[in-house]
Amino acid sequence: YMKAEIVSTGTELLLGETLNTSAHYLTGKLSLLGIEVDYHTTVGDNPKRLEQILRQAIERTDIIVTTGGLGPTADDLTKELVAKVLDLKMEIDAPSSENIKQFFSRRKAPMPSSNEKQAFFPKGSKVLPNPIGTAPGAIIEKKGKTVIILPGPPFEMQPMFDNYVWPELVSMIGPHVERMNERVLKVFGMGESSIEKVLDDLMNLPNLTMALLAKRAEMHIRLVARSTEITSGEAKMALDQAEEEIRRRLGNKVFGRDQETMISIVGKALISKDLTISTAESCTGGLLGAAFTQEPGSSKFYLGGAVSYSNALKQSLLGVDEESLKAFGAVSEEVAKEMAEGIRSKTGSALAVSTTGIAGPDGGTNEKPVGLVYIGFATANGVHAEKFQFYGERESVRQLTVQAALNGVRL
Ligand code: ATP
Ligand code: MG
Repeated sequence: YMKAEIVSTGTELLLGETLNTSAHYLTGKLSLLGIEVDYHTTVGDNPKRLEQILRQAIERTDIIVTTGGLGPTADDLTKELVAKVLDLKMEIDAPSSENIKQFFSRRKAPMPSSNEKQAFFPKGSKVLPNPIGTAPGAIIEKKGKTVIILPGPPFEMQPMFDNYVWPELVSMIGPHVERMNERVLKVFGMGESSIEKVLDDLMNLPNLTMALLAKRAEMHIRLVARSTEITSGEAKMALDQAEEEIRRRLGNKVFGRDQETMISIVGKALISKDLTISTAESCTGGLLGAAFTQEPGSSKFYLGGAVSYSNALKQSLLGVDEESLKAFGAVSEEVAKEMAEGIRSKTGSALAVSTTGIAGPDGGTNEKPVGLVYIGFATANGVHAEKFQFYGERESVRQLTVQAALNGVRL
């Protein structure tokens, strides 16, 4: 097995300001490739200590992945110190230099001279372009050691790793090293223990491991099949078979897999059926609208909505009947239905969803405890509302409400 060390740089990581999500991300990916991550090291923007950490990492592991310290400022020294430790000169990379110049000219901004240093790399580097920012990364191999240099911002680092580093590592580890082939199935509307019961006999198959991960508003079933590159076809088949069997047993409780999210699935379904939707929200305060607009292209199906938190707005914006509010209260099946109907007739959307509930921590009673939520669904064929009893703190109740509302639209 190849051994790796992740060297995270940045004083903010040591001040408790920023959570080191990059080490977490990279470790997951390297483990999938069968590369053993032996150390996580975090060091501030301090040249002496970073140099010492790099020497130690190169001494004790085969693959060193650094993040951060590629900026234009004087405390960004990762490339320079890697060059020093590997005894390499710094050289300008012409394409990077051109890209950085273009980055500024596209923004019609003058290029600060300090940015020039972002185009310099240890001699022999394979430069990794950065499509988002100005700091390119690099892969440097010397004497059987590989140093991979990536920028600090996770939204730059992650696509660079996936697009350029992953394929390099795949060819580096070769066809005989066993790696992990992963698939994640996403479930809504079933808890950990009931899933476990239903899938009990699949938990310990010889060629597959299964793990349940509880997320805030969904459950993930993570399947892993080990294989070398040569036997990856068999691993894929094992994953396909397991997925099929899980979907057979859990039915439509499985809403997606891998990169798919609840909203991406709902959005696709609405687009394919050519349906529009609008929202009337009380306890979710706009979170449902936010979820709908999170998807690129959501203007194709999401018309908009109302955040009608007070009873007065429920009446004036949505036409909810004062009598219904008096007789049943705002958190009721009747009001959820009237909210959904109200926004649907206002917007002319094909579908409408409403949320009204008690998010807590206060406001619960015996008849209407915290976590009680009604979700209304209106279509041209009529309106109905579903009752939910969620558990957890305020944010969980709100997130679960959003997820349940989307799930109702999906079904
Ligand atoms: P630049 O100076 O151009 O931004 P850099 O490579 O030096 O490049 P940093 O300044 O170190 O990047 O970090 C930029 C941003 O990314 C900061 O907001 C920082 O908090 C965040 N960041 C850096 N390292 C990590 C990490 N390991 N995990 C999560 N966030 C990180
Ligand atoms: Mg930094």
